[in-house]
Amino acid sequence: MARVALRHTANAEGAWFVDTRCIDCGTCREVAPGTFGVAGGQSVVVRQPAAGDDGAERDAWLAAQACPTSSIGTVDHRPRPGRLYPREVEAGSGVFDVGYCAESSFGASAWFVVRPDGNLLIDSPRFTDALAGPFAEMGGIAHVLLTHRDDVADAGRWAERFGARVWIHTDDRRAAPFATDLLEGGAGEPTTVAPGVVAHPAPGHTKGSVVFVVDDRFCFSGDSLAWSHERGDLTAFRGACWYSWPEQTRSLRALAATSSFEWLLPGHGARAHLPAAELHDRLDRLVARMAAAA
Ligand code: SF4
Repeated sequence: MARVALRHTANAEGAWFVDTRCIDCGTCREVAPGTFGVAGGQSVVVRQPAAGDDGAERDAWLAAQACPTSSIGTVDHRPRPGRLYPREVEAGSGVFDVGYCAESSFGASAWFVVRPDGNLLIDSPRFTDALAGPFAEMGGIAHVLLTHRDDVADAGRWAERFGARVWIHTDDRRAAPFATDLLEGGAGEPTTVAPGVVAHPAPGHTKGSVVFVVDDRFCFSGDSLAWSHERGDLTAFRGACWYSWPEQTRSLRALAATSSFEWLLPGHGARAHLPAAELHDRLDRLVARMAAAA
């Protein structure tokens, strides 16, 4: 629960606040950009949800439920409006934002995908019965797909709870010694891990980064690629590139050449839903900018 006594002094006047335990993971600013912003290296409420604006209030609750440090709340301790996660990204898609981000993955988003051949958990939220119940109701988890070493969080506990296989690239395997399946290869060498589920090795952010594309429609990009609300365009995080920027540039060029998708669902950064051709063109232009700035 957010702590009123630790309320950040830069919060906009009103009921909603962020406390000073915030680790600046950015998740609330991606989930509810109209309400949350930055002040001095932490998130704060920059605009209170207007009275009667149910959408803004709902988004603030979604951010509160996702926050890895439980730093978001209301001074009058309003009760949360029922179960918010897992939350389907589009009705009937079978793809869910699971919220409950883990502090150990620096608040990275994780995703649950219902599949006829076995459900997927892509990266890991913190382990909680609030998600285990809904996951079980939807058929459990057959595969945990890890995009890279930083976002492992409670993957081992989820795999143990549901008897799932765990996939990670061999170059990041030390972060998940419990993995059952190691991905091999480099950029431009995709591997099918299940029907309709393709792993694209994407060295760059880390040496063992992987982007997963499902049904040529949903791209789970980890920290290799994201949308930027500020730029209104695709972005990659040069300031958080731990292995090699030239390699990340090559990886994203190969991803553009070998995949197609209309949903971009990252670990950090904003998500996007655009026509596949537009996302492809934007990815090509991002790669050109990255290469020019190398
Ligand atoms: S989600 Fe929580 S930890 Fe992350 S930036 Fe927002 S308030 Fe801070």
